[in-house]
Amino acid sequence: VDVRLPRREHLDPNALRVVSRLVRSGFEAYLVGGCVRDLLIGRRPKDFDVATEAHPREVKRLFRNGRIIGRRFKLVHVVYGGDVVETATFRAAPKSMRGGDDEHDPTVDDLMIVDDNEFGTAAEDALRRDFTINGLFLDPLEGEIIDYVDGLEDVESRLIRTIGDPRVRIAEDPVRIMRAIKFASRLDFTIHQDTWDAMVEHAGGLAQAAAPRVVEEILRLLQSGHSRVAFSLLDKVGALPILLPALVRWRSDTAGVETDAADGDDGDLPPLDRSDGWAVLAALDERIRRGEAPTTSFCLAALFAPAFLEAWEEIRDEEHHSDIDAVRLAARLLTPLSAVARLSRRDVAQAKRLLANQPRFTQSASKRFKPLMFVHTSEFDESLDLLALRIRAGCEERAVLDRWLERREEAREMPIETVERQRPKRR
Ligand code: ATP
Ligand code: MG
Repeated sequence: VDVRLPRREHLDPNALRVVSRLVRSGFEAYLVGGCVRDLLIGRRPKDFDVATEAHPREVKRLFRNGRIIGRRFKLVHVVYGGDVVETATFRAAPKSMRGGDDEHDPTVDDLMIVDDNEFGTAAEDALRRDFTINGLFLDPLEGEIIDYVDGLEDVESRLIRTIGDPRVRIAEDPVRIMRAIKFASRLDFTIHQDTWDAMVEHAGGLAQAAAPRVVEEILRLLQSGHSRVAFSLLDKVGALPILLPALVRWRSDTAGVETDAADGDDGDLPPLDRSDGWAVLAALDERIRRGEAPTTSFCLAALFAPAFLEAWEEIRDEEHHSDIDAVRLAARLLTPLSAVARLSRRDVAQAKRLLANQPRFTQSASKRFKPLMFVHTSEFDESLDLLALRIRAGCEERAVLDRWLERREEAREMPIETVERQRPKRR
């Protein structure tokens, strides 16, 4: 891939406005971070961030539409209608990057408290960033890339590499493990060997990372359209037992499971590769890349579905089972997540219901299980959608879905009164 200088028409006009006004007022200012990286590889940036030597109050003075935000480290949001240009003052590098003084191997304890409160120079601001590909500055007025971190080379060779010693940089913020994996899967870049080794070494540090940040990254990975690669990398790096222990307990058994179920023939889609135990995520990615935007609960349920059904099989064979057991089992897998503020209780509860409903699709009608009642429950449609995803992934027979589609039709044709009488009572 050749790296090209971004063309002016690919830049965000509002970000350009912010940079020009700052520069005209005598301040150094650049576009920074993800947007520069994305422009260089020909992707449309999600947002354009500005970094400047001007202090927040000086920025605020220049822009009537500027709002100072942040408690600890202040930055300015310059607001244009629905569009926000995040404008941050150059920050000093963490101690680990200032170099020099001590030779000893830093421990996590030394590093976790990162003092990132000081303003700094452009060069220092580049050095405090995580990966070389994220440390590039673009001067949009001169049309120039400013590279303090040898990031251009890495963009060219599609490499993810920490700025500075990977062991130090990963230890001081283990969430960078998840970030490296996010960029590797999303951009199809390779993680540099030394960075990878440090990630493996410090995966355990994720246990100390702030839960909301970790969950945020998990959700972003699930919704990225590249979740299959991302989760197999999380697995390889050894982060899964720390991030999602409930998932791992059963995953070892489901990896590589091939069923003889027919290919989910959704139109004329090519068969999915189901060799690595992440086929349900592959099916989820396929949908997202097609433009669908599955809900958070659906994504969570998709992630846990193979583990859930594996565990369900065990219970079912061993004990007398009931619907309640399925509900309990789903709760056991997902309840730990509901403690995290980033996830709404409603989303987790819905994910549990989607999982707990899966065994019902293969349950035969009985006195206690009335298929038509199930069809009329409020989460039936989304549960059926999860079944369709599992079928696409080869986890279930296509005929099961067809049977329920028929039942749904049947139920819809029933007169309302009949339906009402059959609806289960709400607790
Ligand atoms: P995306 O396209 O996902 O937004 P991004 O590179 O813009 O990717 P952000 O999370 O928006 O990522 O962060 C913006 C920039 O801030 C990054 O490019 C990076 O330079 C810096 N950054 C973010 N998180 C960290 C971190 N944990 N450690 C060091 N630098 C970070
Ligand atoms: Mg960003």
